[in-house]
Amino acid sequence: MSDDHNGPLLGGCLCGAVRYEIGVEPKTTAHCYCKDCRKASGTGHCTHVVVQEEGFSISGEVAAYDRPADSGNVVRRHFCPKCGSAIYSMNSGMTGPVFVRASSLDDPNAVTPRASVYASRAPKWDPIDPSLPAFAEMPTQAEREAMTAKG
Ligand SMILES: [Zn+2]
Ligand SMILES: [Zn+2]
Repeated sequence: MSDDHNGPLLGGCLCGAVRYEIGVEPKTTAHCYCKDCRKASGTGHCTHVVVQEEGFSISGEVAAYDRPADSGNVVRRHFCPKCGSAIYSMNSGMTGPVFVRASSLDDPNAVTPRASVYASRAPKWDPIDPSLPAFAEMPTQAEREAMTAKG
């Protein structure tokens, strides 16, 4: 991984009631254009910073909303109950990773997106970055590993 930053990544919600710290190097960062991310984001897509759970520490109350994904797994989206800002999500089918919203970072440029997923569902007014690998749906495990290996 080659995201350039020094020390932990800090972030939080709009009102400041929820704060978090990412103390590990993110595994990757990716844009997701699925319908659920669009609906939950307030714009065309979500950008997720994928981090191991043990490297993520959060303070303040969060509310959660559970919704089944295409895979049948349940995605739990966590947000600030006071200001509504999206903070992170977790997937019942994957133990370990936390999907932190890049939008909630204090310095959004501390991460570099590596790919776009569910690209086929992007709205016309939210064009996909042509410089990144784009997957029409969710990439397979093999595709994911090939991408991670490239760094
Ligand atoms: Zn808040
Ligand atoms: Zn999504």
